[in-house]
Amino acid sequence: MAAKKKPAKRKIKIDKKDAAKRIKKILAILKREFPDARTELNYKGAFQLMVATILSAQCTDVRVNIVTKDLFKKYKSPKDFAQANVKEIEADIKSTGFYRNKAKNIKAASQALIEKFDGKIPKTREELVTLAGVGRKTANVILANAFGIPAISCDTHVIRLSRRIGLSANSDPVKLEFDLAEIVEEKDWAVFSHTVILLGRYVCKARKPNCNNCPITVYCPAAHKPELW
Ligand code: SF4
Repeated sequence: MAAKKKPAKRKIKIDKKDAAKRIKKILAILKREFPDARTELNYKGAFQLMVATILSAQCTDVRVNIVTKDLFKKYKSPKDFAQANVKEIEADIKSTGFYRNKAKNIKAASQALIEKFDGKIPKTREELVTLAGVGRKTANVILANAFGIPAISCDTHVIRLSRRIGLSANSDPVKLEFDLAEIVEEKDWAVFSHTVILLGRYVCKARKPNCNNCPITVYCPAAHKPELW
C-alpha cells in the first residue's frame, strides 16, 4: 500500500502591522483571562528551573513536577548532581523519557556550573547555551522566569498558535522568536509566552481548537476555520 502523503504545510501571509495591532488586543484579553500565568513547572531558584526545564523536553509539566518533588530533595545543588553516578540520576528521572540524555546533560551542566560559573546559573543567553542540554528555548525560559529578563520561549504551543493566530509564518523556533520580538512589546515577552502556552494547552489544542470557548475568537483568523488549523 502506498504511504499516506503528509498534508502540505499551510502557506501563511503575514501583515506585520496588522499582526502587531492584533497581538496588543489579544494580549490584553489573555492577561485578563490568565492573570497568574507563569510556568507550570515547580522550582525554587534558577538551578532547579534549569533542571526542570531540561526534564520537560518531550514530557508534560505534570510528570516533571512529580519527578522533581523527590529529585530536588535528594540533589540539593549543582555539586550533588555533579558528584552523583549518572546511572543513579537516570533511575531517578526515568519516567520523564529520554532519561539517558537528560541525566548526562544535567550532570555535565552541573559540572560546568561549578567549574566555570562558581556554581551559579549565568544570566546571559550566550553563557547559558554553553551548558549541556540548554538550548536557546531553555535559556529563554531561565532568563524570563528566574531573572525577569525579557525573553520569548518558543515551545510547541507558541509555535503552533503563532501560526494559527497569524502572527508569523515561521515554524523554526529561532526565526519565529525574532518575528514575535518585532510585534510584541519587550515588556510583554514573558507574559506572551506564558499566556499563549496556557491558551494552547487548555483551549486551542492541536487537533481540536475550542473556538466556541476561546476568548480571542474575534482577533483570530483561524477561528471556526478548520482548513487553517
Ligand atoms: S479562535 Fe480557535 S483557532 Fe483561534 S486561537 Fe482560539 S481556539 Fe485557536
